Amino acid sequence: MAQIMLKNIEKRFKQEKVIEGLDLTIEDGSFTVLVGPSGCGKSTTLRMIAGLEQQSDGQIWIGDRCVNGIEPGKRNVAMVFQNYALYPMMTVKENIEFGLVNRKMPKAEREKVIREITEIVGLADYLHKKPQALSGGQRQRVALARAMVKSPAVFLMDEPLSNLDAKLRSQMRTELIQLHKRLGATFVFVTHDQVEAMSMGDRIVIMDKGRIQQADSPMQIYDDPDNLFTAQFIGTPP
Ligand code: ADP
Ligand code: MG
Repeated sequence: MAQIMLKNIEKRFKQEKVIEGLDLTIEDGSFTVLVGPSGCGKSTTLRMIAGLEQQSDGQIWIGDRCVNGIEPGKRNVAMVFQNYALYPMMTVKENIEFGLVNRKMPKAEREKVIREITEIVGLADYLHKKPQALSGGQRQRVALARAMVKSPAVFLMDEPLSNLDAKLRSQMRTELIQLHKRLGATFVFVTHDQVEAMSMGDRIVIMDKGRIQQADSPMQIYDDPDNLFTAQFIGTPP
């Protein structure tokens, strides 16, 4: 089980407080979307869950353990980045396999896992290509596959679709929703796009200026915004 709990999180960069009093429970197996304007603290929140950034105060729990001080590789999470972060000199297969290298998996089993995953994300025909020979959507699928080989309980995605054109973005939204159902993992998806948020998440966490403004189902947020910020951001009448 991998419910995520953020307890009274504060984050300061030097003297500047960018996150304050953040309390949030992300349900096991949910598709939770963090949404809010640029600079509100979405990426910082995700990076703290991943362990790529240390909170200044408060506790983070993943599953049944407090992960304060636990390194990123031991948190049972995988991060998917906006810029894909692929290795240009490696093939698709090598990029994906990289996620497995330190796991002492026998070669035959590695091959099997990679075959299965590339089948799921539609990359089976591209295993020996380099990233520069791929389209944006295909690169994003490689980044997803690289996260999937770790079979993490939690996928953390920071604006993974924002470099794609509108048509592909819409297709990838559908694919991600299907992938979430198929894997049964907890997805935490960050976007600044409220339409994307409302169409993808089963739970929407609206942030502004380092604080949570509302965390609810899309329906509740639309029908019953807690405050003016939420209403205006989502575009519902207050
Ligand atoms: P978002 O992802 O919602 O656009 P971020 O989490 O990236 O927002 O940033 C939140 C705030 O923290 C912003 O004011 C940003 O300038 C600041 N910030 C983020 N990372 C750093 C850093 N490494 N050093 C100093 N300030 C930072
Ligand atoms: Mg960001």
